[in-house]
Amino acid sequence: MSLLVVGSMAFDSIKSPFGAVEKVIGGSATYFSLAASYFAPVRLVSVVGKDFPAGVIDMLAARSIDTSGLRIAEGETFRWKGYYEYDLNTAHTLETELNVFKDFAPVLPDSFRDSPYVFLGNIDPRLQMDILRQVRKPRLVALDTMNYWIGNSPGPLREVIGKVDIVVFNEGEIREISGEYNLVKAARVVMGWGPGRVVIKRGEYGVLHISDGTMFAAPAYPLETIFDPTGAGDSFAGGFMGYLASRAGTELSDMDYRLATMYGSAIASFTVEAFSTERLQGLSNGDITERVESFRALTEFQV
Ligand code: AMP
Repeated sequence: MSLLVVGSMAFDSIKSPFGAVEKVIGGSATYFSLAASYFAPVRLVSVVGKDFPAGVIDMLAARSIDTSGLRIAEGETFRWKGYYEYDLNTAHTLETELNVFKDFAPVLPDSFRDSPYVFLGNIDPRLQMDILRQVRKPRLVALDTMNYWIGNSPGPLREVIGKVDIVVFNEGEIREISGEYNLVKAARVVMGWGPGRVVIKRGEYGVLHISDGTMFAAPAYPLETIFDPTGAGDSFAGGFMGYLASRAGTELSDMDYRLATMYGSAIASFTVEAFSTERLQGLSNGDITERVESFRALTEFQV
């Protein structure tokens, strides 16, 4: 079943202890769409400037990503510049240039309004709300954000969090937004605002998935080669939501959410192996299944 995503498409400039790249393709919606496209048809809503390469849009469209909700506006594409130290879990922002996002008022194509699965990717929370108002009775809505929006637009962010089913935050974000250091308590605070599930991305420590009455923890895959954690969170979310959308027609069970967490973790583990979306573009279904199987072997034990 179709999965709608709204989020940023960007030019990123990134430095990590393992190298540096300038003006590469990034953005929350780009990583999310590519990751999700291995599982379900994706409907992409975003905006880029005239400077964005047409070849990248063609590459997205060549996968199962409907780009009819992508606006190409006068002006320059969103830009993010950041760096990581050896603690790859923390992205330090140097510059954020909103550019075409400043005047973006997303209008959903009619054919997108019935999307049953919706992901409100990292973007201005007012735009996230705008999109949510335009979809008819979605089955499941998840949301991500970033410290930039927690700091700059806390009110609109709280409002949209109150309308979604799942939040997918990293540990720094959930601590900041909830005012609680302990992650279980932080999840309870956020669930008190509305969402029934909280997924906490903990970088190299994996993912903690909390809902009323259940907790599930997944490790990150211990990789030998890590270049750039940018996009890992969005790729996780893409694999997670993509898997749930692929289960359409059945009532989602606790095991579906657990498996979705493992598929998300598998996809994210590929993203960090290269800069930008390089690794994410050329995966095979076999690569993904094999990584999920490696996760199973990694965590299996008997009592
Ligand atoms: P993550 O998956 O959390 O590593 O997200 C990384 C992506 O988020 C990068 O490719 C950036 O282009 C994008 N990004 C960074 N800052 C923002 C922001 N304030 N709003 C929207 N997208 C952003």
